[in-house]
Amino acid sequence: MSGEAISLSLGRQVVKAIRTVSGPSSAALHEPEFNGNEWRYLKECLDSTFVSSVGRYVDRFEADLAAYTGAGFAVAVVNGTAALHIALKLGGVEPGDEVLIPALTFVATANAVSYCGAIPHFVEIDARTMGMDAVKLDEYLAGMTTFRNGKRINRTTGNVIRAIVPMHTFGHPSDLNALISIARRFGLVLIEDAAESLGSFFQGRHTGTFGLAGILSFNGNKIITTGGGGAILTNDRELAKRARHLTTTSKVPHRWIYEHNEVGYNYRLPNLNAALGCAQLEQLPRLLKAKRNLFKKYKAAFKNVSGVRLVAEPAHCTSNYWLQTLCLEHSDTIQRDLILRISNDEGLMTRPVWKALHRLPMYENCPRMGLDVAKDVEARHINIPSSAKLGGITK
Ligand SMILES: *Cc1c(COP(=O)(O)O)cnc(C)c1O
Repeated sequence: MSGEAISLSLGRQVVKAIRTVSGPSSAALHEPEFNGNEWRYLKECLDSTFVSSVGRYVDRFEADLAAYTGAGFAVAVVNGTAALHIALKLGGVEPGDEVLIPALTFVATANAVSYCGAIPHFVEIDARTMGMDAVKLDEYLAGMTTFRNGKRINRTTGNVIRAIVPMHTFGHPSDLNALISIARRFGLVLIEDAAESLGSFFQGRHTGTFGLAGILSFNGNKIITTGGGGAILTNDRELAKRARHLTTTSKVPHRWIYEHNEVGYNYRLPNLNAALGCAQLEQLPRLLKAKRNLFKKYKAAFKNVSGVRLVAEPAHCTSNYWLQTLCLEHSDTIQRDLILRISNDEGLMTRPVWKALHRLPMYENCPRMGLDVAKDVEARHINIPSSAKLGGITK
């Protein structure tokens, strides 16, 4: 067969394998479901007239999130990007600082760094986890940085490297042990972008709780949704207090006086969204079961399709399997794009991973290490329909 015929044949096999799981109709990449107390809590919320940023569902959602993740404190905010913006500020990220982030992540990770006036510094990817490569990062930092006046300095740019922000791609945890050890040795603040990994654990501990702070997202396509929403997780009481202050326009609490003691943000999550979040969080254990079951179904469906494999959770991790991912045997964007076209033509929503961030115009001049693996991972991976309902667990 010619190269094109092989590609076509693989594309058709991928469609067939997805169809054995998804059935004959079209399938979205990720649909939310509202089969629990969503309507009831929303109605209660409307009936109470507390629809905005004060209300008992906000308090309950924060308490429930802290209890589920094991974080000391959770602060609910309007979205995951806002959560990351504030978490970076809590970490002391200042204008002109550099922040280490993976080259392959949703653009929000880099945008939050930019909102602080800081500079994203792109880190190579580990093909096994699709997250930061700790081994290469360690070597890189040892070679190109120096420690001066208690600060880690990039010797090329002269800037302070303040923080490191691992991201757990599609719910699969990065190598947190190694990354924590890098943060310690190089004097960096660790902040986790756990936007995709609610329900994912590294060695039994919830992602987002390892560093100074972590963040979650409850956007419509995430494992649970509040419409739009996010949360900051931290074990530090003072930081949680500061996060609450900054996200509430830095208002000094008083019964009637408007007093604000620094530039703050209107980032608090409305009670309506929190009500949805409380109901969604009740469903999380079932959703996680469904997602794991979906992985098993796809695993069986793709068993005899050569040329692709299904991405499984890394060792010592429990992944939430937020987005199911195929890895192509060959790094070939023509092959990848053909599979994307054939499946989308068939009504099966499949997606490539993000374009590596250093290839976006606003980030093309940012500092970065060698990113060959990031490029390779970008060329080889495809997300396939991942809605929990395809996992077939209704209770
Ligand atoms: C979803 C997401 C965010 C932020 O999400 P919002 O849409 O702002 O809630 C941040 N980082 C990553 C990696 C994400 O996937």
